[in-house]
Amino acid sequence: MNKLENTIDSDLAGPAPRHRTTQVKVGNVTVGGGAPIVVQSMTNTDTADIDGTIAQVAALARAGSEMVRITVDREEAAAAVPHIRDGLAKRGITTPLIGDFHYIGHKLLAAYPACAEALAKYRINPGNVGFKDKRDTQFADIIEIANKNGKPVRIGANWGSLDQELLTKLMDENAASANPRDVRAVTREAMVQSALLSAARAEELGMPKDRIILSAKVSAVQDLIAVYQDLAARSDYAIHLGLTEAGMGSKGIVASSAALGILLQQGIGDTIRISLTPEPGGDRTREVQVGQELLQTMGFRTFVPLVAACPGCGRTTSTTFQELARSIQDFIRDEMPNWKSKYPGVEELNVAVMGCIVNGPGESKHANIGISLPGTGEAPAAPVFVDGKKFRTLRGPTISADFKALVIDYIDQRYGQGAKAPVTAAE
Ligand code: SF4
Repeated sequence: MNKLENTIDSDLAGPAPRHRTTQVKVGNVTVGGGAPIVVQSMTNTDTADIDGTIAQVAALARAGSEMVRITVDREEAAAAVPHIRDGLAKRGITTPLIGDFHYIGHKLLAAYPACAEALAKYRINPGNVGFKDKRDTQFADIIEIANKNGKPVRIGANWGSLDQELLTKLMDENAASANPRDVRAVTREAMVQSALLSAARAEELGMPKDRIILSAKVSAVQDLIAVYQDLAARSDYAIHLGLTEAGMGSKGIVASSAALGILLQQGIGDTIRISLTPEPGGDRTREVQVGQELLQTMGFRTFVPLVAACPGCGRTTSTTFQELARSIQDFIRDEMPNWKSKYPGVEELNVAVMGCIVNGPGESKHANIGISLPGTGEAPAAPVFVDGKKFRTLRGPTISADFKALVIDYIDQRYGQGAKAPVTAAE
C-alpha cells in the first residue's frame, strides 16, 4: 500500500484525512502539512496598470482570496510589482502576491530585485522556463534568486505548455515498448515527471522541500484526477489544485467542482484555484466565491453562513421564497467582511428558506434559523424555527423583512459580544 492509500478510509462519512504534505509558508499564509486548504485566485489586469491591479487584488482579497497571483510578463510589470505591494499595504491588505513567470522570469527577477523581494512566491512553468541548453541555467537562475530572497516557488506543469523534450522522450520510449500505453497516459506521465524532476532539481540547487509547491493542471476532468492522484502518490510536496481552462459559467463551475471535489475528498490538495473565465465585464471575485463554496459544502472549511433553499415546484406559484433566499444570501455575503470581527463564528450559521409545508418545517428545524413560507393553497402564515424549535409565525406582506430582522437578531444574540447562548424565545 502506498502513502496515499494509507490516508484513505472508505468508512469515513466525512472527508478523508489530508494527504501528508510538507508545509510551506507563503508570506503570512501556511500551505500544506495539515493546514486549512487555502483559496487563491489570479488577477486579469495588466500588472503594469498599478492602480487597476491594486483595485482587483483588493477586491479578490475582500472576497476571501488568501493569496493572489499576478502576471509578471515584461519589464513594466516587474517594475510595477513593488508599487502594487506598497499600495495594498497602505490599504491594510497583506494578502501574499505570487508572480506568474513564463519564458523570461530569470531575467525579470534578476533585473528587478524589488519585484523579487515584494513577491511572496514565484510560479515557474517547467515547460516555459527555457529551451534546450538554456533550460537548466534559466531554471537555476530563478531558484538561486528565490533562495537568496527566502521565497517559495510553485512548479506548475501545464498540459498546454508541457515540456516538449520530456514528452518526446517518453513518447519515443513508449513507441519502442513491447506494451505501448495510450497517448494520453504517456502525456499524463510527462506532466507528473515534469513537476517531480523540476522539484528534484530545485532541491539539488539548495531549495528546501518546505519551499516547494507542485501543480499539474489539465483541462479534462478525468485526466486531472489521474494526474494529481499520481503526483500525490509519488511525492509529499504541498499541492496546488486547479483545473486549467475550466471555462465559463456553469460549465467551469461544474468541471472544477467535479475534479477538485473528488481529489479533495481523497485528501489531495493544499491550496485551490477555480480558473473561471469571467463573462465580458464579469466579476473576477466569482472564482473566489466558488472556491469557498466548494470547500464549505464539502465540510473542509467555513467562510460564510450558508442559506439552504428548496428548488420550488408546482406547490409554489409565487417567487417570494426565491427572492427571500437570494436577498438573505446577498445580505449575508455583503456583510461578512464586517461581521468577521464583530460576530466570531458567524460563518457556521445555517439559514433555511423553504417554499411550502412539505419539507419546510423539517428542513428549517435542521438550520439555526429557518422559515417555511406558505405554498399555494396554504394558510398565509410562515412559521419560523430557531435552533430546532418553532419560534414565531410571520404573516402579512412584511414576511420577508420580518424574517431578515429575525436573522439579524439571531446573529447578534448568538455571536455578538457577550452572547453565547442560542436564542430561546418562543412564539
Ligand atoms: S419544500 Fe415545498 S415548495 Fe419546496 S420543493 Fe419541496 S414541495 Fe416544492
